[in-house]
Amino acid sequence: MKYLDGYRDPDAARHLIRGIAAAAERLARQGRTVRLMEVCGTHTMAIARHGIRDVLPANVVLCSGPGCPVCVTDAGYIDAALALAGRGVTIASFGDMLRVPGSQGSLAEARAQGARVVVCYSPAEALTLSMAGDAAEVVFLAVGFETTVAPLAALLAAARARQAAKFSLLTAFKTVIPALVALAQDPEVAIDAFLCPAHVSAVIGAQAYTHLAEQYRVPCTIAGFEPLDILFAIQNLLEQLADGRAEVVNQYARVVKEEGNRRARHAIDEALEPVDAAWRGIGVIPGSGLAIRAHFQAYDAAHKLGVVVGRGQADAGCRCGDVLKGKLPPAECPRFGRACTPDHPVGPCMVSGEGSCAAYYRYGRGA
Ligand code: SF4
Repeated sequence: MKYLDGYRDPDAARHLIRGIAAAAERLARQGRTVRLMEVCGTHTMAIARHGIRDVLPANVVLCSGPGCPVCVTDAGYIDAALALAGRGVTIASFGDMLRVPGSQGSLAEARAQGARVVVCYSPAEALTLSMAGDAAEVVFLAVGFETTVAPLAALLAAARARQAAKFSLLTAFKTVIPALVALAQDPEVAIDAFLCPAHVSAVIGAQAYTHLAEQYRVPCTIAGFEPLDILFAIQNLLEQLADGRAEVVNQYARVVKEEGNRRARHAIDEALEPVDAAWRGIGVIPGSGLAIRAHFQAYDAAHKLGVVVGRGQADAGCRCGDVLKGKLPPAECPRFGRACTPDHPVGPCMVSGEGSCAAYYRYGRGA
């Protein structure tokens, strides 16, 4: 791990790029072009920002995966939030969600027409907002992977401790491992190796990938977000593929532990239970969501307010589903940069700060 002293050292970067070229050359001699998937939206942005695709050999394809939580949230979830807003409920959310299109529009449009939609920088703000004497019911849009899930699970306990009567979560939680298993089994996607997320892995631990690597023979390397972290992980994945190995390698050991964050995992298990979940453009993946357990039902907006989260209608021309499965580079979507831009997004992959389409648009089509 001598590279990790200075995460942007040019000599170390050149050394890693030579290592990537050497491993790719070994694969080329085996007649192989390989597809690596960076799972996490923050990796997608870092790879685009640092031009990492530009230094990869021709037989190494780095495609983006489903790790942007806003992007994978089904249009039906936005529809449910809009239905609640229409009933006078205050919708509280992180900013990215507001411009995500549902079947009939977005929360930003509803706010412009008078709906109570507020942006929060922390979910605790929403709880505090609900405790004001004259507050209407406040529903926080609880969307995200394990990194976001853990503090929101803890917030449920805080809401109960404060006897918050007008606070609830509308959940669309996702878990990473079932999605990766689904992708590993999909012959159309044809992923050879996963560059695994950093933040999520800090919660679930490196051990969470063992079954995926062993059962599906897919190398999994957990990487940090600095350029050298990512280059190291790519080199490692290529070397594993060239050697015929499929191991879990934790390049981000300065943050990610083998067992993850036990306290965060306990908070999640205490408050939430696995359920099937709908992923925008991908469909239902068994066991890939988390729902609020019965003992916290008073804070479950779906139960408390009787709102049903169904399947929504995405724009027929939007190819976010293919982008999120790594089947289509964003720039090959016919709407990219024409009908769909960050100012006028058609799909969530162009809305989110972690979306693949937004990354390609911001940093160039070859990002
Ligand atoms: S460019 Fe726009 S329309 Fe095309 S897949 Fe991305 S978000 Fe959807």
